[in-house]
Amino acid sequence: MDNLRHARTLISEASQVVSFSGAGLSAESGIATFRDPDGVWSKVDPAVYASAAGFRARPNEVSEWYGHRRRTLAMTNPNAAHLALAATNWQLHITQNVDNLLERAGANNVVHLHGVLDHDRCQNGCGYHCAVDLSNPPALHTCPDCGSMVRPDVVWFGEMLPELAWHLAETAIEQADVTVVIGTSGEVWPAAGLIGGARTVIAINREPTKIGRHAAVELIGPAATVVPALVSPADPNTR
Ligand code: NAD
Ligand code: ZN
Repeated sequence: MDNLRHARTLISEASQVVSFSGAGLSAESGIATFRDPDGVWSKVDPAVYASAAGFRARPNEVSEWYGHRRRTLAMTNPNAAHLALAATNWQLHITQNVDNLLERAGANNVVHLHGVLDHDRCQNGCGYHCAVDLSNPPALHTCPDCGSMVRPDVVWFGEMLPELAWHLAETAIEQADVTVVIGTSGEVWPAAGLIGGARTVIAINREPTKIGRHAAVELIGPAATVVPALVSPADPNTR
């Protein structure tokens, strides 16, 4: 049996399936990954642009960079992989991505482990939280409730993951018969550790990975080709 058929059989026999995605899921929408050789971290310093200390030291630059990322996201569309996932009846789509492309593809059961670009929150943690218009993101501003700076609602290096998202993801992965891991390097912790709790893993990546080596099935190829091929209309787990 070839790998794709094997993976499809695992999914059709499963009563609960979840997806766990990383930056590779959105790469073909035109959003750069972080750790690949041509990724974001080859161009900007994560210590400045992805840490609370960087934001405190250079708030205008960080805010402008997020403004650029937000405008780019606003001009981007979900790809065939997002659309295929959104059309399944899988229990949960767990993503490390901070974009909203799964939601824009029509998925309403998405959990974001690393926050979202389409919201801001108070840096001081006073509870202030607001939606952001991605096509017209706000300039650096202060919190209306406590006067601290307002920052993107994303998880930066050294920060805790949102508790509810973590709990939902951990529980769903433990309960799922199959976890489909898509486009992630598996090097971002603690998120990558969740995969260790999965019963059966189907790993999809454009290149072989550590996660793939330990998976029941590894499917090598671009997400926008492989995911739709895996999630075919003939699959009883697809609505
Ligand atoms: P990563 O950048 O560390 O790794 C991306 C992985 O995707 C690599 O293993 C690469 O081989 C694979 N990949 C690249 N293009 C692919 C394609 N077309 N099809 C299949 N696989 C492909 O990303 P990560 O593991 O998700 O971790 C980076 C962190 O950075 C994430 O936690 C996330 O928060 C953040 N991030 C988010 C976005 C986004 O929201 N779209 C983009 C970049 C980074
Ligand atoms: Zn505040």
